[in-house]
Amino acid sequence: MAARTVAGLTLPVPVAGHPALELCNTRANWTSPDYREYLVSLDHAVILAVDRELLDGAAAREVAARAAADSRAAELALGRLLTLRRDLYAVLTAPEPASAVRRLDRAMLAARRRRHFVGLDEAGAPAWSRVVDLDTPLDAFAAAAEDLLTTAAGEHVRACAGTGCGWLFTDPSHRRRWCSMQWCGNREKARRHAARAAHGRTVT
Ligand SMILES: [Zn+2]
Repeated sequence: MAARTVAGLTLPVPVAGHPALELCNTRANWTSPDYREYLVSLDHAVILAVDRELLDGAAAREVAARAAADSRAAELALGRLLTLRRDLYAVLTAPEPASAVRRLDRAMLAARRRRHFVGLDEAGAPAWSRVVDLDTPLDAFAAAAEDLLTTAAGEHVRACAGTGCGWLFTDPSHRRRWCSMQWCGNREKARRHAARAAHGRTVT
């Protein structure tokens, strides 16, 4: 689990292989009481969405301006995004509660309804318009969640085996154990080595 600076904000290093999983990984040490929260403002969510190519610059600037104008409403929008993150994580790491499935389904449907196909652009590419407000980051990550759950990537999600880590990643090869060998892999090796050494001392 490591951090980086994007547009002046601290965000996790992307290791997941899918933007919906990168959202889940904005909480580090998921299963530990001393977890770390990266998604501390709606601005962080906006920057992450731009960095993962879910939002364009114009939409991001509009959301950021609205958040600056109404910090209380921005906080509530962040709360809704954190609920989506919790529900997606619960669904991907069994056993998932039925309420998480229902809420996630509703969020994905709401995001779909706020996005409209408007034909082809000048370059001949499909063009979409979207409602831009404080819930636009939520829409962007809900759409990413839907992409994950409707494509092959969703069949190969695994959680890091590192103690307390809980970060998610796609693993089509079914051989990956760690979010990163450099962090969790080496830490776990060192932990096992220390445990073996301690055991050795007890025996002798
Ligand atoms: Zn890990």
